[in-house]
Amino acid sequence: MSFRGDSYDRALTRATEHARTWLDSVAERPVGPRATASELLAGFGGPLPAAPLPPEDVVDLLATLAEPGLMAMQSGRFYGWVIGGTLPAALAADWLVSAWDQNAASRYATPATAAAEEAAAAWLLELLGLPAGADVGFVTGAMMANFTCLAAARGAVLSRAGWDVGRDGLSESPRIRVLVGAERHETIDLALRYLALGSPQPVAADEQGRVRVDALSEALDAFDSGTPLIVCLQAGNVHSGAFDPLEAAIEVAHQHGAWVHIDGAFGLWAAAAPSLRHLTTGLAGADSWTTDAHKTLNVPYDCGIAIVADPVAMRSTFGAHASYLIADDSGPGDPMEKVPEFSRRARGVPVWAALRSLGRSGVADLVEGLVRNAQALAEGIAAINGVQVVNEVVYTQVCLRFGDDARTRAVTAHLIADGTVWMSGSRWRDQDVLRISVSNWSTDSADVARSVDAVRRAVDATAAP
Ligand SMILES: *Cc1c(COP(=O)(O)O)cnc(C)c1O
Repeated sequence: MSFRGDSYDRALTRATEHARTWLDSVAERPVGPRATASELLAGFGGPLPAAPLPPEDVVDLLATLAEPGLMAMQSGRFYGWVIGGTLPAALAADWLVSAWDQNAASRYATPATAAAEEAAAAWLLELLGLPAGADVGFVTGAMMANFTCLAAARGAVLSRAGWDVGRDGLSESPRIRVLVGAERHETIDLALRYLALGSPQPVAADEQGRVRVDALSEALDAFDSGTPLIVCLQAGNVHSGAFDPLEAAIEVAHQHGAWVHIDGAFGLWAAAAPSLRHLTTGLAGADSWTTDAHKTLNVPYDCGIAIVADPVAMRSTFGAHASYLIADDSGPGDPMEKVPEFSRRARGVPVWAALRSLGRSGVADLVEGLVRNAQALAEGIAAINGVQVVNEVVYTQVCLRFGDDARTRAVTAHLIADGTVWMSGSRWRDQDVLRISVSNWSTDSADVARSVDAVRRAVDATAAP
């Protein structure tokens, strides 16, 4: 095989056709997959065939094998976990990223993707009201963004204590104390584990899952001054959507010299919407922030964003300065100085495309629309007999309860089997709940109405005879 542009034609044409077929099917197909991974493996697997297969046939085979096992996460009636859909501009940009095949590590070698990502980063900081000089790294998701920010935090708080973790490691370093809200996302714990910081100390939360500032203050008072401290706050609780009282919590944490990190995987976007911005008051005062673009911003997987106010903290943690790399030290820094990866795809380019497509008003409309739909769902479902909305619906999340745990699980199972919607079951505050996350740009009032009907059917079908 030799490289010729037209050798891609048939495979790309087939891929476009399959993509269109899939996207056209999303609105009406059952939301859930119809086959399990183990069932699908029979088709995908077996011994690796000895002979090659033409690229277009590989594409056909892949699309056919995958179809029954695809979850319609782009459906306007998919409300599981916190999962965004895909804006058209972002999806198309993502295809180009693959076609261009740039290794997005350096400004010198791949200036186009570096520039697009830098522009996207500046837009993000402006939209979210964060300090203009902050470093922005495009990583795979909020898990890795939490890891990236907390790695920078670890280096910075140890440096203030006179310890160089890059040179001397952690084994004999001063001990870092990490305080987290009782309802932080578990990826905070995972990130801390990967960073060898152990389990964090939880601080009590209120009935919506917001950290209590009095409890935080009390916990911080217990440490000697000079103790390296990190406090992790949350903008957007996965169950209630609630925001920690950021302004007061940041103030208390900073009084104790702590680094403040905010996990705003989906909640940070409230700062980009005038009617929701009050939820994030004080946000800009933190030291680092996590968010996802593949959730609220609706770019394709995978795309998380790590933001660190102090570029020195970021780049001294991640900057690689191997002699064969040609560094660009003209100011913004190389992409690879802001992420744990060395080589990576230009995943910030779909972010640029999404933001350019929406504009400032479009981002605000997107986020406000999600919240309006969440509130409409909560209202419609609350009117059904025997249903309780258990959270204050301030953002995109709704938690429902149907009498007791068993009934709540039965309704959840019925809904998933019905296929009109996808909502995930969970446990929150020691009881089973059905969780709704409205994170898809394409959800409209017709989806909301059909979703409320689906819940009503499930409630009727699971009623005691
Ligand atoms: C989804 C989520 C994460 C993890 O994000 P990934 O993109 O799945 O890595 C972390 N924190 C919160 C609050 C989340 O909602």
